[in-house]
Amino acid sequence: MARVKALVAGNWKMNGLKASKKELTALAKKLGKEKPGCDVLICPPATLIATLKDAAKGTKIAIGGQDCHAKESGAHTGDVSAEMLKDAGASYVIVGHSERRADHGETDADVKAKAEAAHRAGLVAIVCVGETEAQRDAGETLKIIKGQLKGSLPAGATAKTTVIAYEPVWAIGTGRTPTADDVAKVHAAIRKALDARFGAEGAKMRILYGGSVKPSNAAELMAVPNVNGALVGGASLKAEDFWGIVSAY
Ligand code: PEP
Repeated sequence: MARVKALVAGNWKMNGLKASKKELTALAKKLGKEKPGCDVLICPPATLIATLKDAAKGTKIAIGGQDCHAKESGAHTGDVSAEMLKDAGASYVIVGHSERRADHGETDADVKAKAEAAHRAGLVAIVCVGETEAQRDAGETLKIIKGQLKGSLPAGATAKTTVIAYEPVWAIGTGRTPTADDVAKVHAAIRKALDARFGAEGAKMRILYGGSVKPSNAAELMAVPNVNGALVGGASLKAEDFWGIVSAY
């Protein structure tokens, strides 16, 4: 299998004010001293992208958005386009997070259009998929994940432009995680689907695991085959916790 450099991405969600810049500065200090074997990304609220990009100057920390509109510009009050994120300093954007799918009714088709917008703007799209607890209990996990991948990934996706994040909805913010065996099964199925659709590109695409990743479970989860990094919510808000995950690589 192709060797894939891992990515550890922090999703700050709707958290953070200008003062939160100190967390990035603290993380940068750690990164400067001890070089981890993974790429590092922080996705703050859109209001902080320019501030954090500035604070990350001279470091290897990339900055990303948490969502984008499918269109480049226009009459869409309150929305932010991929081009605007790029202009503010982002190089990645998360699309299809389960909180967007649930709170804003985003469908696979919407997510695909957003991933296409990210690519148009020159951003790497982190496309999220994941089953709910009810779907898991009904034994539908793989069916749901395959369907979301099929509907959410644009035709031209490559390993350079696209990252997949598997995030079981029931594991997000709950402190619960699937077993390493369960994660391995889902990630193997995702890899197979990517290989079948994108060939050599699919073999190189990064597949992140997300859902209650913490310093105490990062090493075990990150050692699972086909886990090429993590998407981290709560534990990305404090530099010390996030570093505990980044340093698992
Ligand atoms: C997330 O929302 O992407 C996430 C993984 O959250 P947490 O790490 O807090 O479960």
